[in-house]
Amino acid sequence: MNALPSPYYLVDEGLLIKNLELLRQVADASGCKILLAQKAFSMYDTYPLIAQYLDGTASSGLHEVMLSRDYLKKENHVFSAGYSDEEFKKILPLCSHIVFNSFSQWERFKPLTVGSSAKFGIRINPEISTQGGGIYDPCAVGSRLGVTVGNFRFDEFEGNAHNRTQSRLRDDIPTKGQSEKRGCAPAPLSGLHFHTLCQQNADALETTLQAVEEKFSPCFKNISWLNMGGGHHITRPDYDIQKLVTLIKNFRQKHNLEIYLEPGEAVALNAGFLVCTVLDIIENDGAIAILDASAACHMPDVLEMPYTPRILGSCEHGKYTYRLGGSTCLAGDFIGQYSFNEPLQIGDKLTFEDMAIYTMVKNNTFNGINLPSIIKRRTNGELQLVRRFGYEDFRGRL
Ligand SMILES: *Cc1c(COP(=O)(O)O)cnc(C)c1O
Repeated sequence: MNALPSPYYLVDEGLLIKNLELLRQVADASGCKILLAQKAFSMYDTYPLIAQYLDGTASSGLHEVMLSRDYLKKENHVFSAGYSDEEFKKILPLCSHIVFNSFSQWERFKPLTVGSSAKFGIRINPEISTQGGGIYDPCAVGSRLGVTVGNFRFDEFEGNAHNRTQSRLRDDIPTKGQSEKRGCAPAPLSGLHFHTLCQQNADALETTLQAVEEKFSPCFKNISWLNMGGGHHITRPDYDIQKLVTLIKNFRQKHNLEIYLEPGEAVALNAGFLVCTVLDIIENDGAIAILDASAACHMPDVLEMPYTPRILGSCEHGKYTYRLGGSTCLAGDFIGQYSFNEPLQIGDKLTFEDMAIYTMVKNNTFNGINLPSIIKRRTNGELQLVRRFGYEDFRGRL
C-alpha cells in the first residue's frame, strides 16, 4: 500500500456491503424503502453494488439526479430548497419523486407537471429540534428548510382522496384511461417529506414522528407517501434497529402510507479511510506534524462541524503527542491532537477512519492542493485505483 499515490481515500467494499445488508434488512422488516442520500457519498463506482441493496437515491439537485440516472438507475428522488426554471425542466423527466421546499415553488412549477409520471411532495418542518442545534438543525428558529404548520396549506391536498387511489395504481402499469387522465391535468401533491435528524438514534425519530403526527396528520388521508429524510445513524453499533423497525411499521400501517428513509451517512459509515503521509515535523508549543492531507481541503467537516476524526493506531495517552495539520496556508488547518506509542517519522503513513462520507463530495482544491486519489478495496482484497487527480482538475474548475 506504500506504493499508492498519497493521499488517497480507500473505500472498502466489504465494509460497505455490511452496511448495505443491514439497511436492506431494515427495509424488508419494516416495509419501507431506503434511498442513498448522494450528498454524503457519491462515489458512483459503487452505485451498481448499492443498487443491489437500496431502492434508489435522494438527490439535492440536477447533477446528483443525473449521476443517479446514469449509474444507480432506480428510484430518483430530489429535494432542493429552490429550483430554477431551467433546472426544474431538466429534472422533471428524470425523477420519480420531486419535493418542494415551499408552496410558492409548487405553484410555480405545477403547470409543468401536466403529463408527468413523477410524484410531487412538500417538505415540512415539524419544528422539533432533537439535536444540539447549530448549522445542522433544520428545525432551528428561522430555518429555511421546510414548511411549518403555521404556513402549511392543508387545502392544497384536499380533494386528493380520489387521486390517492390513482397514485397508488401508478405504481403498477398505468391503465390507458389513467394515463389519458394524467395527460391533461397537473399532477396532485401526493406526499410529504421531512429531514430533521443528524447522526441520531431511533428515539429522536420517535420524538419527531409524534410532532409530525400531531401537526400534519390531517393531511395524511390525502397523501400516499411520506419521506422521513436522513440522519438515521442506522449502521452505528449502538443504533436501536428494533425500535426503528417497529416505529416505521406502526406508522406505515396506522396511516396507510408508503415510507421512505434517505440516509447518507449510514450507507457508507466507517466504510472508508483517508491515508496520508507525514511530510514534516516541527516544534511550536509542542510537536506539529505536517501532512499531505488537509482539514480545509479534504475533510472540511473537521473544521465545519467541528470534530476530530479517529486515526488507526493512535491512542488516548500515548507517549508521543502531535498536533496534526495540513500543508495549506490556512493557519487553522489543524485536524486535531493525537498521541502515539511510537514517535512519528517523516514519511510515515497515517490512516484517518470513517472518511468515505462528506469528504469526496465536499473536498476542494484550495491552494491548488491536489485531491486525494480514490481507491477501492474489493471483497477479494484487490485494490483498484478508481480515480487519480492532477493539475488538470485544479485548472478545470477555474
Ligand atoms: C443531508 C440530507 C440527507 C442525508 O443525511 P445523513 O445525515 O447523511 O443521513 C437526507 N435527506 C436530506 C434532505 C438531506 O438534506
